[in-house]
Amino acid sequence: MKMSQTGSCYVQLGNVNNIYRKYIAGTYQKLGTKEISIIEHYRYPIRIGSYGDPAAVPFDVWEPIILASSKWTGYSHFWYKCDKRWKKYLMASVQTPSEAKQAQNQGWRTFRIIPPDAPLSNNEVLCRNAEDDRTKCEDCFLCNGSSSKPNIADRVHGLNWKVSNFVKYVNQQ
Ligand code: SF4
Repeated sequence: MKMSQTGSCYVQLGNVNNIYRKYIAGTYQKLGTKEISIIEHYRYPIRIGSYGDPAAVPFDVWEPIILASSKWTGYSHFWYKCDKRWKKYLMASVQTPSEAKQAQNQGWRTFRIIPPDAPLSNNEVLCRNAEDDRTKCEDCFLCNGSSSKPNIADRVHGLNWKVSNFVKYVNQQ
């Protein structure tokens, strides 16, 4: 079973469904050069994708938006098969220490969700929000692709049943 089939993703789907409904109705505003200019003018930070995998969209569509922004965070579960240029901007989302090692050996920085009591690997630091919940991604930006920064691990969080599905999944790997 794939991770995506466990139902353990922490994203609440209400907003995602609203966007989808608007998109289908043709009323969801498209992002174009005007919006990219605004991002550039104000150097707005972005998260590369909010649900689904950003690498499902061609790199050349995303890069002008990323370059216009001042700072970003982003993650991909498709690290093993996506356009390798994504390494510059995205973290490889991984579930196990061996998968993390495999991605790191290919030049990715990794972001690994771990069960509540699991130890960190030697080359990982705990997500800053897990250390102190007053720290948000928009203050931190550690998860922004390849650099000499450490790999990140974060303790699984969200609804209890989602956490439980995740722990079951990881224990089967
Ligand atoms: S380390 Fe945690 S708080 Fe910082 S960018 Fe990554 S996910 Fe966000």
